[in-house]
Amino acid sequence: MRILVVEDEVELASYVKRGLEREGFAVDVANDGQTGLEMAMATPYDALVLDIMLPKLNGYKVCAALREQSNWVPILMLTAKEGEYDEAEALDTGADDYLTKPFSFVVLVAHLRALMRRGGAARPAVLEVRDLSLDPARRTFAVAGEAVDLTPTEMSIMELLMRHAGDVISKIEILESCWDWAYEGDPNIVEVYVRYLRKKIDIPAGRTYIETVRGSGYRLVDEHG
Ligand code: CA
Repeated sequence: MRILVVEDEVELASYVKRGLEREGFAVDVANDGQTGLEMAMATPYDALVLDIMLPKLNGYKVCAALREQSNWVPILMLTAKEGEYDEAEALDTGADDYLTKPFSFVVLVAHLRALMRRGGAARPAVLEVRDLSLDPARRTFAVAGEAVDLTPTEMSIMELLMRHAGDVISKIEILESCWDWAYEGDPNIVEVYVRYLRKKIDIPAGRTYIETVRGSGYRLVDEHG
């Protein structure tokens, strides 16, 4: 059983590594998110212990990037007790379980063993709204059963809108979840992408799926309208 620990606090990382090795695991450590992501993509680990606050790429981003590339390695996320981040968000980005810092080693091992027994992460369910369907695992999208080619960014936007069908999603929310965290360009880029999506989805079908809510954002119309 080989485990990757992605944690920038060097002392905590080496404490976890030593402890897990005593339990018979092989353990690699990455001290930043980017390195962690690259290692996780290159090596088939049995599980990841992933901190959230990491240099270069935070834990949420690492997790989302792995899932986006259909990597279903079980992920145990470490969350801070009084952080602005929460467990729900960890699970939402594709983590399988979480542990709040500070944690006891015994609890960490118990969580990891349970996680590995359960096996890889459950593949996310196919999203369906009206006659749209999006498979987050395969990164495929179809309108009335006809496959429509979307770029990765278009796919992320559709996934976000479909997960929250009927709700208004602001441009900022779209920007934050569909663009790289380091993106500092014009938020109006979202409008450009929504236009691309309408060209591929609304216009050929001759109806409105993506509605503009003036001054607020966008809404995926979840019933015939
Ligand atoms: Ca950290």
